Amino acid sequence: MSFLKKILGGGSGDKGADSDANAMWLYVRCNKCGAPVAIRVDMRNDISTDYETGARFLRKEIMDGTCFQLMYANVKFDSAGKINDKSIERGTFLTREEYETARAEFDAARGK
Ligand SMILES: [Zn+2]
Repeated sequence: MSFLKKILGGGSGDKGADSDANAMWLYVRCNKCGAPVAIRVDMRNDISTDYETGARFLRKEIMDGTCFQLMYANVKFDSAGKINDKSIERGTFLTREEYETARAEFDAARGK
């Protein structure tokens, strides 16, 4: 279960990824406790290809580090590699701006 280590170990301190062209970030909020979570996606290793249709997609289990609920994200990409559909169970997608606002509010509410 190495993905759990990645999720739990990567954490919010891993901010140097903007220079990594193969990384994409997903921002989600846990529907149970409201915690915002940032997920790094490695475009080389995390993306799967449907060999029947050629479509590229991502299935990612995301663990919220606050209540430890698992969320299940499904993201589909078009041929240019842009997201054209995404859904998530037990959570909500955020934009980067929404994530940063939510992160600050969540930490403030928890007295950090
Ligand atoms: Zn939660």
